[in-house]
Amino acid sequence: MSTAALDAVVVGAGPNGLAAAAVLAKAGKSVLVLERNATPGGGTRTAALTREGFAHDVCSAIHPMAAGSPVFEELELTRYGLEFCHPELPFVQPLEGERAGALHRSVEDTARGLGKDGPVWRRTFGPLVEGFARLRPVLYQPVTRPPLAPLLMARFGLNSLRSAFAFAEETFEEPEAKALFAGAAAHSFCALESPLSAGFGFALTLLGHAVGWPAAKGGSQSIARALQACLEAHGGRVETGREVTSLSLLPPARAYLFDTSPRALSAIAGDALPPRFHRAAHAFRLAPGVFKLDYALSGPMPWLSPAAHRTATLHLGGTLREIAASEAAVAQGQVPEQPYCLVAQQSLVDSTRAPKGQHTLWVYCHVPNGCTVDMTERIEAQLERYAPGFRDLVLQKVATSPADFQAYNPNYLGGDISCGALDGLQLLMRPWPQRSSWATPNPKLFLCSAATAPGPAVHGMCGAHAARLALRTVLR
Ligand SMILES: Cc1cc2nc3c(=O)[nH]c(=O)nc-3n(C[C@H](O)[C@H](O)[C@H](O)COP(=O)(O)OP(=O)(O)OC[C@H]3O[C@@H](n4cnc5c(N)ncnc54)[C@H](O)[C@@H]3O)c2cc1C
Repeated sequence: MSTAALDAVVVGAGPNGLAAAAVLAKAGKSVLVLERNATPGGGTRTAALTREGFAHDVCSAIHPMAAGSPVFEELELTRYGLEFCHPELPFVQPLEGERAGALHRSVEDTARGLGKDGPVWRRTFGPLVEGFARLRPVLYQPVTRPPLAPLLMARFGLNSLRSAFAFAEETFEEPEAKALFAGAAAHSFCALESPLSAGFGFALTLLGHAVGWPAAKGGSQSIARALQACLEAHGGRVETGREVTSLSLLPPARAYLFDTSPRALSAIAGDALPPRFHRAAHAFRLAPGVFKLDYALSGPMPWLSPAAHRTATLHLGGTLREIAASEAAVAQGQVPEQPYCLVAQQSLVDSTRAPKGQHTLWVYCHVPNGCTVDMTERIEAQLERYAPGFRDLVLQKVATSPADFQAYNPNYLGGDISCGALDGLQLLMRPWPQRSSWATPNPKLFLCSAATAPGPAVHGMCGAHAARLALRTVLR
């Protein structure tokens, strides 16, 4: 492929950049992806962070959004080697002792495990899961697009507008169901009392029932590898070690798609974009940050709860009220004493991750953006609370702070792994109110990162939507 003949250049080889490039290449366009790091993948990279033989997911670990992604299906990533490993239970919320809320793939099994809350769980999620085929596009498009199935959307949307706290507190009676829902909703990085926060709980729980919460076999890097293989099969290519700091560094092309933060695009594009774009990019609000720990363990986690041994994902943090307190503290710029922690134990479902009998553990908590506090002790206290004796299994551990995340990937400013806060107007109209989420005032420049709709997580749909916009406009 001669660079003079390029149709499109994509800056950044995260899942969105790679998906954008693959969609364009599949449409017959010549595409080059430029990536600053030594390997493609962005938030989907895997490395021996602790010691040889242990494959740790550096960023994303668990993939409900990828498993349901329309563009990953369209690109036939399984043909390019992507395989998902499903645990028996999509996610589990341990409580004191052996108690836990457990999400099963089946709504019926989940309801059976939730005692008094079983019937209401069945009534709430049953119809949504049955209508998943019609709801799926809604989860992967801008929130403000007209609904495809108005009645189903009303059922989904009206509850989603509420705060996660109010929904869980008023709908359920027992701690298990309340905490199970709160654990999923808290992925939003929003205070659980904030309006719209229930939407995250609904979307992630629905995906848990409908497609599962799997890990990628061999590590999240397999997702990037499959996307790259698909891109290359259609004639595109990726160059690594190519940091783009100015438009003048880019080869000639008809369209440029940026898998970057809006602020990075503002700095790169300079005068090619008008002052109103630069103002909006700098007003774009960041989400809180994360502090992460990766462990090599000599054995499986000694969870007290039997259900916790049957899943790859756990939300630690106790009851609805405890999780809400942790997330409220972060939203107010404070460091939580008992942080809500997201935990993945991929090696339980994927034996390629660790030497026989040994395991990986991936855990992070939310902290204020740019926070410099070492959260190791507080995270380990939560792990010990639900798995006493866990510390005795630790062979090695590695911590990643918000500053480390920013250095690793400039999209994660201050440790914000969502590429922008997910609340208020910024959730409804991402990155900001305009006719198209992915367009900029310069018709040749597009934003295709998680800063655009439908937002963060590994699904490639921001990239797919941006690529289709480019195909409809400058690449017609
Ligand atoms: C700790 C952590 C845990 C997560 N857990 C999950 C999870 O379990 N499940 C899930 O679905 N999602 C998870 N996510 C979120 C998910 O990884 C992101 O939402 C997703 O990767 C965003 O994709 P993207 O393509 O928009 O950007 P990114 O994946 O951030 O990729 C952007 C790419 O662009 C490159 N780049 C940036 N600027 C430039 C430049 N100027 N020049 C050249 N290259 C550039 C970067 O190096 C990077 O490779 C997690 C993220 C983190 C960090």
